Amino acid sequence: MKSNSKLNRVLIVGGAHGNEFTGAYLIKKFQQSPELIRRSNFETLTLLANPRAFTAVRRYIDRDLNHYFSRVDLQDTTLSCYEDLRAKEIDQMFGSNSENPIDFIFDIHSITTNMGLTLIVDNDDPFSLQLAAYLSSINSEIKVYSFGDLYPSPNLLPLRALGKSSLCIEVGAVPQGVLNAEIFMKTEALVYAILDYLENITSEKLHIIKIHLLSTNI
Ligand SMILES: [Zn+2]
Repeated sequence: MKSNSKLNRVLIVGGAHGNEFTGAYLIKKFQQSPELIRRSNFETLTLLANPRAFTAVRRYIDRDLNHYFSRVDLQDTTLSCYEDLRAKEIDQMFGSNSENPIDFIFDIHSITTNMGLTLIVDNDDPFSLQLAAYLSSINSEIKVYSFGDLYPSPNLLPLRALGKSSLCIEVGAVPQGVLNAEIFMKTEALVYAILDYLENITSEKLHIIKIHLLSTNI
């Protein structure tokens, strides 16, 4: 997404993998208290991406939901297991041809390895790189990982590919099916920092952040 594009809708995703509780429970909290994520310059939406896998405390029911968001897969009617149908449903709700196309998606995952608070940026997207640079400048714990000009697996596009821009958040170490209070609170604070950044760049404070970013070596 270009830095000067209009930002109308932001989607926060959790539970794309059902046993990653940090993101799933953050979504539940935000759905119960939407004022926490409400900002004035754009609409913030939430998605518990794989509710059946979350209920079953499993990564997925039939296969990994986070691999089937390419246009080819979304239009392939022979793909019809639970996660295939859920991917099509999510595309109809939030994809580029939906009534609510999403400008920016951030998808929260947790992991059993010690990645701390890691931001994953795809496709050298300048908008996400600027956001990542800003976040790492205000929180020294944040690490940024980029796959360069590709997604991790170009033929297996993740859910976040539905957005014009996106960021993946990986937090850990936390066991699967476990909620760790410290990691939950750090991730929650990160969500608010992202929303506040997006609010700022769409308001008069834009030039202040731009000046700040110009002095940040990315
Ligand atoms: Zn995951």
